[in-house]
Amino acid sequence: MISATTKTFAVLGDPVEHSLSPVMHNAWFADAGLDAAYVALRAPFETAEAALAGLEAAGVAGANVTVPLKEAAASAFPPGDEIVSMLAAANTLVRADDGLFRAHNTDAEGFVCGLLEAAPTWRERTRTALILGAGGAARSIAFGLARAGVGRILFANRTIARAQEAAARLAGVPVSWDDLPAAFAAADLIVNATTLGMGGGGPDWPIEAAPAHAIVADAVYRPLRTKLLLAAQARGLAAVDGLGMLIHQGALAFRLWFGERPDTRAARARLLSALGETPQ
Ligand code: NAP
Repeated sequence: MISATTKTFAVLGDPVEHSLSPVMHNAWFADAGLDAAYVALRAPFETAEAALAGLEAAGVAGANVTVPLKEAAASAFPPGDEIVSMLAAANTLVRADDGLFRAHNTDAEGFVCGLLEAAPTWRERTRTALILGAGGAARSIAFGLARAGVGRILFANRTIARAQEAAARLAGVPVSWDDLPAAFAAADLIVNATTLGMGGGGPDWPIEAAPAHAIVADAVYRPLRTKLLLAAQARGLAAVDGLGMLIHQGALAFRLWFGERPDTRAARARLLSALGETPQ
C-alpha cells in the first residue's frame, strides 16, 4: 500500500509512456517487500534542467533517465562513476551519503550482460561492431563493447557531427548515414541505438549487406520484434531484442539503490507478459 512514507522512484524521459521500467521495478520492489513505488514521468527536452532538479529537490529516492535526457542528466549532477565522466551520458540517479544525486551509467554493462545472455558466443564472433546512433545509448553500448575487448567500433548517425564526437570519445570510426550498406557489410555485430523502430515502423535497413555470421541487436524493445530484427531473422541472422539490456541496466540500478541484485529471470517473463508475448 502506498503511504506518506513510501519511497518514490521514477523514470524520466519523453516519450516515456512506452517504458516497461515501472512494471519491472515495482515487481522487484514487491519481491523484496520494499515500501517503494516507481512511476514514469514525462519531461520534454526543453524542461530537462528543471525536471531533474525537481526530482532531487522533491526527495525522489532514485531515478532512471531515458531518451532524450541522458546527456542532460550527466551534466546536471556530479558523476557517480567513470563511465558518466567519459561519455557524458547517465541513466541512473542515486542519492549519495550527502543526500544529493550522483549520475551513474548502467546502460553499458546492462547491454553487454543482455547480449551475453542472448548470444553467449558473441565475443568470439565480434571483431567489428556497428552502432547505429550516437546518443546516450549508443555511446554507452559502445563503451561496454570496447571494455569487453571489441577492437573496432563504427558509429553511423544521421547527424555526422555527433557520430564524429562519439567516435572521438571512444576511439571509434564515424560513418556517414549514406554509407550504411558498406558499414553493415563490415560488421560482425550490428546494434540499433537510435529511436528508429520505437512504436513500430522504421527504415528499410540494408540487412542484405550484413555477413551471414552477423549478430543483430536492437536497443528498442517496444515492439519487441522491431523491423530491423524481423529483417535479420528473415535472413537467418541471430537477433537480440532490447529486453535483455532493459532488464540488466535496471537490475544494476536496483543494486545501486538497494545494494542487492534482483531476479532478472523473473523479470523477462513478466515483461514478455506485459508486452502480450508468450514467455519462452
Ligand atoms: P538519444 O540520446 O536522444 O539519441 C537518439 C538517437 O536516435 C540519435 O543518434 C539520433 O540521431 C537518432 N535518431 C532519432 N531520430 C532519428 C531519425 N528520424 N533518423 C535517424 N536517426 C534518428 O536517445 P538514447 O537515450 O540514446 O536512446 C536511443 C534508443 O535506445 C531509444 O529508442 C531508447 O528507448 C533505446 N534504449 C533502450 C534501452 C534498453 O534498456 N533496451 C536503454 C537505453 C536506450 P541524431 O543525432 O541525428 O539526432
